Amino acid sequence: MTAEPSSTAETCCSDDYDPNSLPADEARRRILETVAPVTGREHLPIRTALGRVLAEPVTARIDVPGHDNSAMDGYALNSRELAGGGTVTLQVVGTSWAGKPYAGNIGPGQCVRIFTGAVMPPEADTVVIQEQVRRDGEAVHFDAAGQRPGQNVRRAGEDIRAGQRVLAPGRRLTPADLGLLASVGVGEVTVHRRPRVAFFSTGDELRGVGEPLAPGQIYDSNRYTLYGMLTRLGVDLLDMGVVPDRPEAIRAAFAEAAEAADVVMTSGGVSVGEADYVKETLDALGEVRFWKVAIKPGRPLAFGRVGGAWFFGLPGNPVSVMVTFYLFAQPALRRMMGETPTEPLHIRVPCTTALKKRPGRMEFQRGVLERDPQGRWSVRKTGPQGSGILSSMSEANCLIVLPLESAGVEPGAEVEVIPFCELT
Ligand code: AMP
Ligand code: MG
Repeated sequence: MTAEPSSTAETCCSDDYDPNSLPADEARRRILETVAPVTGREHLPIRTALGRVLAEPVTARIDVPGHDNSAMDGYALNSRELAGGGTVTLQVVGTSWAGKPYAGNIGPGQCVRIFTGAVMPPEADTVVIQEQVRRDGEAVHFDAAGQRPGQNVRRAGEDIRAGQRVLAPGRRLTPADLGLLASVGVGEVTVHRRPRVAFFSTGDELRGVGEPLAPGQIYDSNRYTLYGMLTRLGVDLLDMGVVPDRPEAIRAAFAEAAEAADVVMTSGGVSVGEADYVKETLDALGEVRFWKVAIKPGRPLAFGRVGGAWFFGLPGNPVSVMVTFYLFAQPALRRMMGETPTEPLHIRVPCTTALKKRPGRMEFQRGVLERDPQGRWSVRKTGPQGSGILSSMSEANCLIVLPLESAGVEPGAEVEVIPFCELT
């Protein structure tokens, strides 16, 4: 279970406490207080703006609905007609269709045939549904008992009032938002420019998919997971491939990336005491802090500035790369995108499997949230939890979050999970 290279030095210890490690919250706080939204805005048609972040508030210019209208198919009348109780008989004087209102008036003893969404005639305030009415030529009969004045009517402005702010800046537009914008007649919005992220993998052992593998070589998978996570997030991408562990190559890659992008993101080469040159190069090139963060997987993390770009140096292990991306890089990128921060949903459910853990680091184990035949939700861990076991990430649908001090979980105990749908 100890697939991280840095854990071998500590096998003498009974826990994972390290006085030089930062708690995860502290690392995230430091990163978030440092980055700011990118400047630059775009005006986009609302469909194109799906998933983009609003830079300006949107105010409704009209009421929604625009008029009092019927919520049901039936007969529109004035609630006075209900006052006498008993069987009510009314004369049908016209029809109001959705999009084609009834033009006349209704007087005492009269009503109008009306359909869902059709404008209420001015004198009408109540709709009796058609199922409760007996139609007899131009007359209708119904029982006043059970009818309520004002029933089955949607009031003008009950969803949105003209002048009301419907969406605030910092909002990442959802499908519901597109509909909401359309409903108030807004066809274009102002959104933040998308930050550009240049990313590359480091490591002499890495080969691209399609190339033959010599002994000891592996395929570069991090660039694919990063591509997926960054694409889902909606940033602009610059994929710079694999950079070998050579100081000049790494230096050149950083210079090119920092020139072209708002953010430079790498994987690998940030552990201490290795033949990796990322740390060395960055110490020379930029203002970069290397942290050990008290989490598992993913202890080493670098954050700072290279040239005019922010820098995230993620660990090399495939699971660590994803976990540190979701915990640290993604919240920072969201902030750079102009988004108002939100906490991903955490839920507590029983864990059906035992979880091994030593105190000292916060752990993010891979889990599968599932429902039993009785409809109760629980979580189980995926198989082995090593930071190189990428299949565990693929099989999982949530992260099981175990606090720093936890010393493991017995089957049946409650744990906290973050569903992947909250992260991805
Ligand atoms: P490093 O931090 O560079 O020492 O990498 C830690 C571990 O992750 C090593 O086993 C590397 O081979 C592996 N690794 C690093 N980069 C990648 C990558 N891009 N794809 C897959 N595995 C990687
Ligand atoms: Mg390496």
